[in-house]
Amino acid sequence: MTKRDYYDILGVAKSASKDEIKKAYRKLALKYHPDKNKDNKAAEEKFKEASEAYHVLSDEKRKNNYDQFGHAAFGSGSNQGFGNFDFSSSFSDIFEDFFGDDFIGGARTSRRSSLRGNDLRYDLAINLEEAFRGVEKNIKYTTYKKCKDCSGSGAEKGSKPINCEYCNGRGKVRTSQGFFTIQQTCPQCSGYGETIGKPCGNCNGNGKNQENENLTVKIPKGVDDGTRIRLTGKGEAGSKGGGSGDLYLFISIDTHSIFKRAEENLFFDLPITFSNAALGTTVEVPSIDGGKSKIKIPPGAQNGKQFRLKGKGMPILRRNTFGDLYIRIITEVPVSLTKRQKELLEEFKKIEESKTSPVIKNFIDRAKKFWGN
Ligand SMILES: [Zn+2]
Ligand SMILES: [Zn+2]
Repeated sequence: MTKRDYYDILGVAKSASKDEIKKAYRKLALKYHPDKNKDNKAAEEKFKEASEAYHVLSDEKRKNNYDQFGHAAFGSGSNQGFGNFDFSSSFSDIFEDFFGDDFIGGARTSRRSSLRGNDLRYDLAINLEEAFRGVEKNIKYTTYKKCKDCSGSGAEKGSKPINCEYCNGRGKVRTSQGFFTIQQTCPQCSGYGETIGKPCGNCNGNGKNQENENLTVKIPKGVDDGTRIRLTGKGEAGSKGGGSGDLYLFISIDTHSIFKRAEENLFFDLPITFSNAALGTTVEVPSIDGGKSKIKIPPGAQNGKQFRLKGKGMPILRRNTFGDLYIRIITEVPVSLTKRQKELLEEFKKIEESKTSPVIKNFIDRAKKFWGN
């Protein structure tokens, strides 16, 4: 007997994707499944044939070998390749893949446990001053909360969830068929093992209702853009007595009109007049605590010179220390000069010397050398 081509068996092209192969197999497996075809030898053969084809084509290495060498890749004879092919274990692998743990050939027999509620995400924008001091914020969101009437059980007051008759409370039903057993989630109770006698009128038996939540949250000082804060149990209520999910606050920090931040340090550019830069001065500068700090600019401070104010930066989260504030001076060249100012500058220009402009002198020297004189 000549073995049929694996691609023909599954009815897919050689170029079929992993997904297409899977889909094709799933269709055949469900059609020829022994459970649906009791005492049907032909169907059982078809099922085995499809499973063998899938076993090979679903695995990249096996598929490559098959594409290159055909059936010869798996044994000497035309029909030998899967003499030791362990159907029962391979099937459960394949089916688990399709159905999750609803379909198990082996040991997992417990009823579905309670379900934890979903986590929620809340994006919260605060400003830099709030990040500096820490802040309390009121947030509002919609979530599922445990039904107050039935305390989350889903059963009407006075009535209790009853053991599922269909599965005897096991949450699973199993059927033995030929060479293996399938175990499936109980269709009656969805695997919980119990059903509600009389559903609660307030939540329609869900055990939870959508409600508005209103929370005051404390944002600690030192949070940064991208900090996540977890509020345990403030997410959606769980099912069947399962715990609530968590609420995650995703912090973002608004751009500030003065300060830029890099981790715990703050920065800004301080514009000063060129006369102040030449003569030196003391300037009052803002700090993030809302106060003022003084910095002394020495005579002859060059454009771009940076000053550091220690401890005037941001607090470090959960530590009692602070970063620094860096101030860079930018010399502003005066514009829109009055007649008098012009006169004075012209006057100044006449007495400028190379000694007072060492950087310019240095450049001119290099340029002369470059030109060769
Ligand atoms: Zn059941
Ligand atoms: Zn209820």
